[in-house]
Amino acid sequence: MSGLFFEDALLPQGWAKNVRLLIEAGRFAFIESGAAPQPGDERHRIGLPGICNLHSHAFQRGMAGLAEVRSASTDSFWSWRELMYRFVGRISPDDIEAVAAQAYVEMLEKGFTRVGEFHYIHHDISGAAYDNIAELAERIAASAQATGIGLTLLPVFYAHAGFGGRDPSPAQRRFVNSIDGFARLLEASRRAVAAVPGAVVGVAPHSLRAVSADELAAVLALAGDAPIHIHVAEQVLEVEECLAFHGQRPLQWLLDHAPVDRRWCLVHATHASADELARTAASGAVVGLCPITEANLGDGIFDAPRLLGAGGRYGIGSDSNVQIGLADELRLLEYGQRLAQRTRNVMAHGQASTGRALFDAALQGGAQALGLASAGLQEAAPADLISLDAGHIALAGRGGDAILDGWIFAGQQTPVDCVWAAGRKLVSGGRHHDRDAVARRFKNTLERLLAA
Ligand SMILES: [Zn+2]
Repeated sequence: MSGLFFEDALLPQGWAKNVRLLIEAGRFAFIESGAAPQPGDERHRIGLPGICNLHSHAFQRGMAGLAEVRSASTDSFWSWRELMYRFVGRISPDDIEAVAAQAYVEMLEKGFTRVGEFHYIHHDISGAAYDNIAELAERIAASAQATGIGLTLLPVFYAHAGFGGRDPSPAQRRFVNSIDGFARLLEASRRAVAAVPGAVVGVAPHSLRAVSADELAAVLALAGDAPIHIHVAEQVLEVEECLAFHGQRPLQWLLDHAPVDRRWCLVHATHASADELARTAASGAVVGLCPITEANLGDGIFDAPRLLGAGGRYGIGSDSNVQIGLADELRLLEYGQRLAQRTRNVMAHGQASTGRALFDAALQGGAQALGLASAGLQEAAPADLISLDAGHIALAGRGGDAILDGWIFAGQQTPVDCVWAAGRKLVSGGRHHDRDAVARRFKNTLERLLAA
């Protein structure tokens, strides 16, 4: 049986030399270090586990860069959201499939091997359900299957325009379901991903703004052991409105009223108190940080030292997909903390290498948030991995954790060379095998959408 052979690979116990991996049915069947390459093995220098992108709205890749124009009023998350709603108002199932495929190709080329798709456009442009209620879930599944990225689909329950059960606005008509409608959509979504190898389906109550307390309980009753993702405390206005309505901050309310545990991914949690972060850490939930989007939207800076000090977990998401890059997310996470704390190597938190600490956290937190039982280069884990180009200028003379520091902090172009998801080789020489066709379809879609 032919395998993969790496001169240096990052295993759960640390860096190892001369590592040979065998893959069967999308998982690592056998891993040996100090091994000799066998005839027929594919040989590489540096091997790393692939990383989960725990929070994506793939369709937003199509509006990346369109909201960078100053408007008359104060620009904020909320004015960005108006532009997003206009984009949502015209995007068709074919468009969503084309845009998602482009986003997924870019994720794979940057080292993300699975995506958590927080999927909230469900209905047609008029707000009516499609004949097939999972039409758009099927389009997401088709994009994942065609590009080969692993998929954790998170169908979103969305019902209100704000706290207190405010009626949704016309711009939100494509998102809205009743609880019964959502239960049917969830069932249909499970069928929609059946052909995607290793796919997981979770649930995503959108936010405490969009979901009432009773609805949250009803959605959670449908989750079982599956991942539960929610946007929380991203915006100061959201915190203020939650305080006004519930008399509590969003994370505080959630921790008091919902069974938050290791199934949960709390996306953003930007505006969280020390007490909320200590309780989040104790719950075992993962905080889903999306540094590029949070910077782009002007959300604020997450209090990472508090979470790390309490032993909490986090993972990384590309959220609005305004720019897609694993190393870029990790670098900006660290740099935001340096700017806020006026010190260096904040995320290392007791470890020697900041790059290694960021990479390990993203690996473990991402896998937990997306419902994987195990991750990393170990037997029985999904065969998700990356090779780096050892000849890349940022890796010159580097070994061990300095490879990760070089990639994350000094790699101008990505040194990601090959990428495998569930054992399928999808990227070679930094290029996804279907890059050109996917990009052509994406460009045609955008030219038509933006000409309208
Ligand atoms: Zn989001």
